Amino acid sequence: MEKKTSTFRFPPFLSVLECSGCGATLPPERIHTYCPDCHSPILARYDLDAARQRLDRDSFRFRRNGMWRWYELLPVVDPEQIVSLGEGDCPLLRLVRVSRKLGLPYLFVKDESANPTGSFKARGLSAAVSKARELGIRKVIIPTAGNAGGAMAAYAARADMEALIYFPKDTPHANIAESRMAGARIVLVDGLISDAAGVAGETARRDGWFDLSTFKEPYRVEGKKIMGYELAEAFQWELPDVIIYPTGGGTGLVGMWKAFLEMESLGWLKQPKKPRMVAVQAEGCAPVVKAFEAGATFCDYWVNAHTLASGLRVPKSFADQLILKDIRESGGTALAVSDESITKAQHELCEMEGIFSAPEGAATLAALEELVRRKWVGPDERVVLFNTGSGLKYLDPPGDSAEDSNQVSSGPVTRENPFRRLTEPVKKFFSFNR
Ligand SMILES: *Cc1c(COP(=O)(O)O)cnc(C)c1O
Repeated sequence: MEKKTSTFRFPPFLSVLECSGCGATLPPERIHTYCPDCHSPILARYDLDAARQRLDRDSFRFRRNGMWRWYELLPVVDPEQIVSLGEGDCPLLRLVRVSRKLGLPYLFVKDESANPTGSFKARGLSAAVSKARELGIRKVIIPTAGNAGGAMAAYAARADMEALIYFPKDTPHANIAESRMAGARIVLVDGLISDAAGVAGETARRDGWFDLSTFKEPYRVEGKKIMGYELAEAFQWELPDVIIYPTGGGTGLVGMWKAFLEMESLGWLKQPKKPRMVAVQAEGCAPVVKAFEAGATFCDYWVNAHTLASGLRVPKSFADQLILKDIRESGGTALAVSDESITKAQHELCEMEGIFSAPEGAATLAALEELVRRKWVGPDERVVLFNTGSGLKYLDPPGDSAEDSNQVSSGPVTRENPFRRLTEPVKKFFSFNR
């Protein structure tokens, strides 16, 4: 066997940035957020013809483990700029007892809880913070339902960047604690991630922070897409039949579908058949499911979003159009599960398989049980569930939200001067590290 090596053979094949809405192209050497004309997410495009001639798909497994072994298909040009904590190459586990119970012999979990900071958000933030550093950015900001903030804080610390994070105040406490320890400045918002996004966006524009919100910059999705490459490699370039993914902002779903199309252009897939992508949401916040069922192109804002799975508490994704397009193109579907069934599935995964999953990850098992009942999934199909995070990050005792523990009390989000209203009490209760 060849010696494992971390040397990269070619510069990445990144060629251009492309607006997913109007198709406008932009140069990747500059800093971009989203399309200045039509306000859609921007995606990175690679010279796949050149890559096809020069890259050997079977050589990647001989490299040192982790997301960055796919360097040529990622956006960072100078390897010295990569900010890594060992993200990626999380285990693909075959389920045993749950598999027998459901009568699905080819059932797997991609266990992303093994990532740094305990969730797959590490992948996207490693890519985005690395590229931001390469472009000379020094201050990063994010509104987050939890895990993205923790991940951004960790990578920003390692990159010696300033970090400012807006959490809804009912965010699981572990996210806030890890971010604070990593030196990030923290603001708790009385509202949902969409409210946090509003305030963070204003602060970003006013004070020159670079906004790493989901799909408001082009590179988080590039980190997430590597899950698709890892799956293809693990299944020996014959993609599984069904992927079940807990969908909030949709980065992973859109990223994996992008990866499958890239691999098709690279000529890496043994057969053209690609997985049916299933978006799972919670009954208390299911904008994608509603739009999918209505045949709509965009999602409506989901009023009164509530679910224990904080990563799924996203009333409207900035990439809703892409999510819906990719689900349909794949022949997939979208369905909502109750919090009750999520909790039941979480126990089942842990009791029967030893996997202490995040509620978002458990939601995929709850959805699979429903899809089996509907006979949407057949017994001979290869099915992959995504456990996107660790259950260890959700151990707040009931009622022990940041608000109750009296660390901060912020007023409701208002249009007038939201930043001042939110930061005054925060200044009082938090000692900022920077
Ligand atoms: C953010 C998050 C999700 C949703 O991921 P998207 O790619 O934004 O749809 C799912 N699970 C966990 C644990 C998360 O942190």
